[in-house]
Amino acid sequence: MMKVRTRFAPSPTGFMHIGNLRTAIFEYLLAKKYDGDFILRIEDTDQERKVEGAIDFIYDTLNLCGFKIDEGPNNEKEYGPYIQSERKDIYKKYALELVEKGKAYYCFCSEEELEEMRTRANERKKPFLYDGRCSRLSKEKIEENLKNGVPYVIRQKMPKEGITIVEDVIYGKIKIENSILDDQILLKSDGFPTYNFANVIDDHLMDITHVIRGKEYLDQTAKYNLLYEAFGWEKPKYIHVAMVLGEDGTKLSKRNGDASFMDLYHQGYLPEAIVNYLVLLGWSPKENKEIFSMDELIQNFDETRISKSSSSYDVKKLNWFNAHYIKEMANQKYLEWIKQYFKQDTLNKTEEWVNKLLLIYKDHISYGMEINEVTESFFKEYSLSEECQEFLNSDNMINDVLACFKEEIASIKDWNEENINTAISNTKEKTGAKGKLLFMPIRIKTSGLMHGPELADTLYLIGQEEILKRL
Ligand code: GLU
Repeated sequence: MMKVRTRFAPSPTGFMHIGNLRTAIFEYLLAKKYDGDFILRIEDTDQERKVEGAIDFIYDTLNLCGFKIDEGPNNEKEYGPYIQSERKDIYKKYALELVEKGKAYYCFCSEEELEEMRTRANERKKPFLYDGRCSRLSKEKIEENLKNGVPYVIRQKMPKEGITIVEDVIYGKIKIENSILDDQILLKSDGFPTYNFANVIDDHLMDITHVIRGKEYLDQTAKYNLLYEAFGWEKPKYIHVAMVLGEDGTKLSKRNGDASFMDLYHQGYLPEAIVNYLVLLGWSPKENKEIFSMDELIQNFDETRISKSSSSYDVKKLNWFNAHYIKEMANQKYLEWIKQYFKQDTLNKTEEWVNKLLLIYKDHISYGMEINEVTESFFKEYSLSEECQEFLNSDNMINDVLACFKEEIASIKDWNEENINTAISNTKEKTGAKGKLLFMPIRIKTSGLMHGPELADTLYLIGQEEILKRL
């Protein structure tokens, strides 16, 4: 059996959209499940979108996610170069080979001529298809044009009738009428290939066995198949994946929760949580289980269980995964990690105090930056939200609870959690308040919040003097 080889083929835009990252995850898992190779190829034929440093950025992102790139621009093997702009001669050679075979042709049409064709198509309310006029030029005319340096592109010659079949692992067999296929451009006048040409040449030359990519390429694949057939090459297996949509079911954008991997990472989402969350967005394991280590993912990944329909990005669910991975961290590791995000002014606090504070919130945060929000009342004056205020006014007993508790706290000689707990239970006994009516007023008055970690831990860290002031 041929060694499985998958490739991740991003454009170097310096931005890793989570939809792209999910594709990379699927590609990586598929390769590793079959002991194969995962290749990085940079698709920079659109030179305007290129960003400095983007390749290192992609390596960094994939490394953080725990994916080892077996071959790519920073670790070349025999299939290089891995950057499309460095492969221009290769594309040209193959484009000319197709011209030779009569499956492609030189097109010398000017921008004006094309514009005219477009206008006419518009008028007839038809999609624009190049009318093929240059495919009928005489050999002499072509040679003359080339000699005179007339700019040209090379176009693929499509069959005018019949159908082309695309076979996809997820979507099955798809039939495309050849008559709707445009004589698409393979090589542009600046000598760069189009994506439509380069992806076929590269996937073949790089021995890619499985192509995983966005569903938007599914219909286009008919044209790619015709190229494979023209060259007499074997086609890879296609796995087209449906889109990741925003929370409101429309295309992901800044407005509906779009985030790049690095945005999430800088907010304190753990790469393993992001990967675990994303892999389940559009893929379902056999077992009813949600938390997967990388090894388990590799073992369990089954490309036939990728979903046909699009999925929605859901921050709440991502938070759930991330909170899980935070809880699972060893305390020491957690402290090192959370300190990168913790921005409060701790100048007059001991390290012990800070560590204790961070630790009591370990089970209460969903992402790193959240630590600043939840610990604010330990450092600053707070104002009570309407909800808190309403609660404090909701029962006559509350004032008694607070007054009694204040006295209890004032009488503590040795400031520790045990004595604080005693103060709470004394208040309970003396006032008869219990449950929410006992804990909530104390929590609200001392921290400005309705929820939080263990009350005694919280009070201990706020300190006796400060609590008396707040009460
Ligand atoms: N460069 C293409 C993209 O980013 C890759 C598509 C493919 O994987 O073939 O959409």
